Amino acid sequence: MLQAVTLDLSCFKKEEIDIENIEIKNLITKLVNNYKDIVIGYRRDIHMYPELGHNEVKTSKKVEDILIDLGYEVTTNVGKTGVVGLLKGKKLGRTIAIRADMDALPITENTNLAFKSKNDGVMHACGHDVHTAILLGVAHILMDLKDVITGNIKLIFQPSEETSPNGGAKGMIEDGVLQNPKVDLMLGLHVWPSIETGKVGIKFGTMSASSDRIKIVVRGKNSHASTPELGVDAGVISAEILLALQTIVSRNISSLDSCVISIGKINGGNAYNVVPDEIVLDGTVRTLDEQIRKMIPVKIENLISGITKAMDGSYEFNYLYGYPSVVNDKEITKTVINSINESIGNKNLYEIEKTNLSGEDFGFFAKEVPSTFFYVGCCSPDTPNDKRFPLHNPNLVIDENAITVGLIVMLNSIIDLMK
Ligand SMILES: [Zn+2]
Ligand SMILES: [Zn+2]
Repeated sequence: MLQAVTLDLSCFKKEEIDIENIEIKNLITKLVNNYKDIVIGYRRDIHMYPELGHNEVKTSKKVEDILIDLGYEVTTNVGKTGVVGLLKGKKLGRTIAIRADMDALPITENTNLAFKSKNDGVMHACGHDVHTAILLGVAHILMDLKDVITGNIKLIFQPSEETSPNGGAKGMIEDGVLQNPKVDLMLGLHVWPSIETGKVGIKFGTMSASSDRIKIVVRGKNSHASTPELGVDAGVISAEILLALQTIVSRNISSLDSCVISIGKINGGNAYNVVPDEIVLDGTVRTLDEQIRKMIPVKIENLISGITKAMDGSYEFNYLYGYPSVVNDKEITKTVINSINESIGNKNLYEIEKTNLSGEDFGFFAKEVPSTFFYVGCCSPDTPNDKRFPLHNPNLVIDENAITVGLIVMLNSIIDLMK
């Protein structure tokens, strides 16, 4: 069970609730306020003990214990370290799944938080601690509302979102998380620091980019740096490839479409005075368009093949398909937008016009079942500009008021989608 800053559930004085007499929506607001501190306690505890993808052993155990304690039917080791909680409603209806990711990043935390990471070199810098805590809060409140639940609720605690191309969603799907009972629709959320707390960002259609990995090994031949004519310089060949790759985006793709090819890692060479015989380029390809996604590997290989051949080198090329785009379902998104308007007000609805090219493996779920994914603003409006840090930054501090907003919008959406 949770330790340290976690609140003891037994000290929580739950108010007597008469479901028959109070409107469910008002009840949700009340319950969210009641559970807020407990959920913040969960979040701080998870934040303090972050675990990397597919190693979320302690986090999974905490989730499992809480769900069992609440009375959920719990399945563990789904997709390795994933946990699933099932609540069967009294009336027949659709099965709604809600997903939270649980993994942290290999980043050393640089905040002054009292609940700063105690695991060296590992940090919840993408807010997955908040997602897990919010879903635990949803678990508490839906259990309180179990008498009015229609259909089934499946709470999916997913491991390893950050490990593209081998994220945790795929493994959970392969282990049957969307079956038994069959999931009819799905919801997910992400805290989003570029949106101020209180607001929720959403859009119809494509919500995130596809995120693929590329690895290029360029091979040449060693020689002394003073006699490059006796070798084949893998460094110079790589430099040509690096620049030429950018022409795919600028010359082969319409300027009205979105695509990025970035090489983030270059390794090779052993000495300053030796022509290198091998350089490895690692990078990523992001796009919002499946047709472009299919065309890119062919274009990349054509360039590599032509350049290495012209310069007497050879190559190995691997294109690893990672996460597909998250594409929001029209009908579910319409309902969620209504739920946002009714629960937190239209002024807090942030309709995203253009999505960025971040990747999100919720895309695998959204490919299988109609789904909607939304962003919960988590930057306090009081934060000065130089203290506003993005996700994956060691200085990131998430405004915990976002937890209440996430809970309210998620719970109201679930209730509306049950109808
Ligand atoms: Zn992330
Ligand atoms: Zn994330």
